[in-house]
Amino acid sequence: MKFLIVDDSYDDRLVTRRYLSQEFGQNIDIKQACAPDEALELLAQETFDCILLDLHYGSSNGYSLLESIKGKDGELPTAVVVMTGSGSEEAAVSSLKLGAHDYITKSSLNGAVLRKVVEYALNCYNLRQELKTRQEDLERINQELNHKDKLKTNFVASASHELRTPVAAMLGLLEMLEGTELDAQQSQLVTDLRACSDSLLLTVDDIIDLARVEAGIMETRPYPFHLVDEIQESLRPLRVLARDKKLILESHIPDEMSPWRMGDRRRIRQILNNLVGNAIKYTERGRVDVKVEESNNNHVIFSVSDTGIGISEKDRKRIFEPFFQADQHDETGKSSGLGLTTCVNLIKALNGELTVESEPGEGSTFQFSIPLPSIQPPAVKCPDFVKKKANKNEHLHVLLAEDNTIISNVLQAQLEKANYTVYVAHDGAEALEILKREHVDVILMDCQMPNVDGYEATRIIRQELELKLPVIALTADAFQSQRERCLECGMDDILVKPLSANELDEYLTNIRLK
Ligand code: ADP
Repeated sequence: MKFLIVDDSYDDRLVTRRYLSQEFGQNIDIKQACAPDEALELLAQETFDCILLDLHYGSSNGYSLLESIKGKDGELPTAVVVMTGSGSEEAAVSSLKLGAHDYITKSSLNGAVLRKVVEYALNCYNLRQELKTRQEDLERINQELNHKDKLKTNFVASASHELRTPVAAMLGLLEMLEGTELDAQQSQLVTDLRACSDSLLLTVDDIIDLARVEAGIMETRPYPFHLVDEIQESLRPLRVLARDKKLILESHIPDEMSPWRMGDRRRIRQILNNLVGNAIKYTERGRVDVKVEESNNNHVIFSVSDTGIGISEKDRKRIFEPFFQADQHDETGKSSGLGLTTCVNLIKALNGELTVESEPGEGSTFQFSIPLPSIQPPAVKCPDFVKKKANKNEHLHVLLAEDNTIISNVLQAQLEKANYTVYVAHDGAEALEILKREHVDVILMDCQMPNVDGYEATRIIRQELELKLPVIALTADAFQSQRERCLECGMDDILVKPLSANELDEYLTNIRLK
């Protein structure tokens, strides 16, 4: 063990040295310094296990040594015991604040006390070192986790894009196919294919949502919407399923309920789709009822009841877990066990809670209440745009910038069928070229494209070309972060793929050009 005694008194150094040898054996290495400067020189050449430091010198003091050897992290590089004269407790406390590990008054110095103090200082030093290592480990783990979180978030964003884009293309192609002449068998095949694609899109959305929740990035997007229309729209495809199973599907919405609300209509639709879809899936006979009621504090209560197989008490505790499926059923093969988990997460993101009541053999009722403040009907559907022309029959020139050929073909066909003039660009650079040549009223801009992407192209349109025409993002990812990014670079709104021909036409009809 190596000690450094720093003291300007020869006698004190001698006494300290003697007690150290007596307590720690003859094999210890003891160096001495008469002043802090000398100690610094020694410390620059070698390391010590413990410094015994007198505080008072002629022109300097021991604090300066503590200050000089302290590391950037405020820690001393070795155990330090401060030696003070009697009555100097205050000085001792100051040195402890500077990082010294213990102190001893010279008047009470003897072998046993010195041993105790040195051992305590060494322990204290070792513990602080261990703490420091642990803190560094924690810091590193934290950084790794943040990095992984970021990777995960990026993965979710790109998975969302990569998975939804081809499904969007498939749905568009099917819509085009439906518009052609088909015999009865082909028509049935297309209908079935469409049902499969719809359910694939739902599952993809559920998986993406689960990943979003795990990555802590579940987002909602409040927007003015017509609650009654939205519910009827959500139920439309489900009515077909109910009819196929000869079930009655009814909605109950009080007439006096104010229909215009501020909320995330897409999320509400997703929740109803899952709950009503389940109610139909797990009911063989009877009915499914969707009830909507006004509640306190701008809340709306949604209940979905069925007269189906019900859920046992044991299963009720687990149905909200990811991938849980009660073992008794689902011959449809359409289950992923994710639907209710998604509902729980979405409802939570909308500041509500999902509850269930059920009687096996009698049926189930799923209920949630979320804040949906009632609002005045919006004057125009796209309030961001200033009203001017846009008569439905007026010939609108649309620039479509989309790198996925299938999607751009589908959109082009949909638009041309609805009488729009369409210019197609396969990346942002091509879009900018077309803008220089042609008169364009509105741009539908994909975000991720090669060469110049949609964000950069929009920035150039706004800042360099100084054009004010509406630029609408076309994206497979409809979440707040994406929306903010689009608005930040100068786009006016975002449209989420897949889009039916009707949705697209209705949207463009509602755009009032500057
Ligand atoms: P799944 O894809 O299996 O329907 P969900 O998460 O939507 O996944 O539901 C989980 C389980 O909860 C289902 O497998 C089913 O056992 C049960 N369940 C959900 N809704 C109902 C319902 N309305 N009636 C009976 N059982 C239901």
